Amino acid sequence: MKGLHTFLSYVLWPIFIVSSLMALKVLWDSGVDPELATFYVYVGFFLVLLVTEFLLPYKKAWLKNIDGQTPVDLTLTVLYFVANGIAMVFILKVLVWAIDNYQALVSLNIWPTEWPMWAQLIIGIIVTDLGNNMAHRMAHEVPVLWRFHAVHHSAPRLSVINTGRFHPVDVIQSMIVGAPIPFFLGAPSDVIIWYSAINAYLGIMTHSNIDFRCGIFNYIFNTPNVHRWHHSRLISEGNNNYGEVTILWDRFFGTYLYPDSEGRAPPVNVGTETKVPKTLLGLLLRPLSIKGYSKEDETLSELPATAE
Ligand SMILES: [Zn+2]
Repeated sequence: MKGLHTFLSYVLWPIFIVSSLMALKVLWDSGVDPELATFYVYVGFFLVLLVTEFLLPYKKAWLKNIDGQTPVDLTLTVLYFVANGIAMVFILKVLVWAIDNYQALVSLNIWPTEWPMWAQLIIGIIVTDLGNNMAHRMAHEVPVLWRFHAVHHSAPRLSVINTGRFHPVDVIQSMIVGAPIPFFLGAPSDVIIWYSAINAYLGIMTHSNIDFRCGIFNYIFNTPNVHRWHHSRLISEGNNNYGEVTILWDRFFGTYLYPDSEGRAPPVNVGTETKVPKTLLGLLLRPLSIKGYSKEDETLSELPATAE
């Protein structure tokens, strides 16, 4: 049984990402609207990961409502699904429409549209990741933005059910800073859709409580092993690994942190001792309070970073 557990730990991450992208391709090729297909696969993949958390947990304790945050997390997840559905079906459509109709007027038009799609996608991932990396880093380093991004970091465990634990202000900030680069370079809409799908599917895996061992992928992609360090309760550790799909820009900017190749990670987030609000309204209004989340995070930066 232990042998099977270890085997699955090593092979599941690449299998999951490849099969979810293949499912998207099949739906897309069979005539389903690409934005809708991206969303259908996302929901299906979410359910698969939810079950896998119980079969192959990274931490058994994280399966329980140890932080009293499960109701809030589930509510935000459902809202996130609704918002994501709207985003994928409407916002992505508007973006595609804007690209098809107006991009030629405002972009630099230097995108290599004659290259094969896989090569364009590699370029797309690299340049879109740059904007997202900058947006995420700003959310950590600009105090007023951290107030809102701290909502995402305030849960003391990681699970697929708190992947969508984001304050709306945080989501809007990351879109404003992250999205324009590929648009102005002239990236075609197919590249944007593929990037959105890869980002969404990798994102739910990164937060899942599954014992993935991502091996060599930890040095290229934003894997669960790498991302748990971003959720460390030590600020000096958490202010690293800002990448969305890849961690290549973190390696370039010197913010890549992966000190434990065994796949272990530090205690995550601020924990229940900081009295994280247990209601959705409390969680969303907290950044607007004088105290915000920042004071307690400073206190917690004194805690030792022992791996559990
Ligand atoms: Zn963050």
